[in-house]
Amino acid sequence: AHLDRIAAVDGDLNAFLHVSEAEALATAREVDAARAAGEELHELAGVPVAVKDVVVTQGMPTTAASKILEGWIPPYDATLVQSLRAARLPILGKTNMDEFAMGSSTENSAFGPTRNQWDRERIPGGSGGGSAVAVGAYEAPLAIGTDTGGSIRQPASVTGTVGVKPTYGSVSRYGLIAMASSLDQAGPVTRTVQDAAALHELIGGHDPRDSTSLEGGFGSFTEAARAQDVKGLRIGVIEELEGEGFDPLVRARFEESLAALEGAGAEIVRVSCPNFQYALGAYYLIMPSEASSNLAKFDGMRFGLRVVPEESPTAEAVMKATRGAGFGDEVKRRILLGTYALSAGYYDAYYGSAQKVRTLVQSDFAAAFESVDVLASPTAPTVAFRLGEKTSDPLAMYLNDVATIPANLAGTPGISLPSGLAEDGLPAGIQFLAPVRADDRLYRVGGALE
Ligand code: GLN
Repeated sequence: AHLDRIAAVDGDLNAFLHVSEAEALATAREVDAARAAGEELHELAGVPVAVKDVVVTQGMPTTAASKILEGWIPPYDATLVQSLRAARLPILGKTNMDEFAMGSSTENSAFGPTRNQWDRERIPGGSGGGSAVAVGAYEAPLAIGTDTGGSIRQPASVTGTVGVKPTYGSVSRYGLIAMASSLDQAGPVTRTVQDAAALHELIGGHDPRDSTSLEGGFGSFTEAARAQDVKGLRIGVIEELEGEGFDPLVRARFEESLAALEGAGAEIVRVSCPNFQYALGAYYLIMPSEASSNLAKFDGMRFGLRVVPEESPTAEAVMKATRGAGFGDEVKRRILLGTYALSAGYYDAYYGSAQKVRTLVQSDFAAAFESVDVLASPTAPTVAFRLGEKTSDPLAMYLNDVATIPANLAGTPGISLPSGLAEDGLPAGIQFLAPVRADDRLYRVGGALE
């Protein structure tokens, strides 16, 4: 049914870069046979899943939406993909995204933008617009996204879906094509909070192949999502993330969601996180710095595209020509920014200062979590904007992540879920943030609101 739905709508939506029909059907048939034979199966066995194209999949094209990886077939699976396959979830294919996960609208894909299923002239958010639309448009019941500065939560917000960025280190990064290694984290994109909890439990867990992977010690996400109980839960509204720049109707839906939680017994208080105002600036130094280093491996020698200039086929000329032709404008912009920020003489002024701000953002979280259990804000300042509206203004594009980025800098988990319809009948999202390792609180508050 999902493959039929993809065939019917994806020509317009462009949520998928690759559909793995034969493999998905083969897994589904295996599950049927296993079930008929009375074999014990994982609760998600047979439930199809779509995977963001920045996650490597053995035998299945993986491009990170970049021309530089066109034609590359990974020889191995990411750890989280191994978990999906071991539990026998049919993998429907790979979803569209901003090239190398750099963007907030999926317009930076080398293979054309994904369109928002609510209004096809609008953006689906980014960088994981494909995963969000695949789920929101009923092409897939579950999807995997990655969130470096908001790429799971912001697309969820503007497509009316649920997205979770887990605690940094709780889902293995082995097999994620790295953008900014100290910020990247994979997580679930679904239609309900309970689905997200189940998928998160499946893909999480310690992995010796990821040096930043955490040992266990997390509560049960599925139990928390089912609890329907927020009595006594203290919710702190982040003062810096509800005023200026946030659309009035987005704020109205946010206030209504808070009122509903208050009605269910939660306590709502205002908290200040004064250093969050510097988070966006720090992110756009740290992220490009790490990306400029991570992307050095795309040199025309090892993966995908290789452009050999006839006049001078030297290694240096091949690298130059390949990177020139293979990377899009936003990727080049960030490589330049990152290389500059890391260069001798500038390191302390830029990268070094940004790392100090990162510590201040972490201390804001620590101080806030002394008096509240979770923090709340609108996920994104506005509903989905129009395709093309911000493509010529990178700074306006970057501002979409103002509410999501602090969690990446601090490694804290976050969830976005729908808060209702705002301008033009389009969905808005509410975000909750919890302390490191307290991801279960997100499911508790999200489950109660759903
Ligand atoms: N939109 C942010 C950026 O462009 C975040 C991207 C992400 O989370 N992958 O960097």
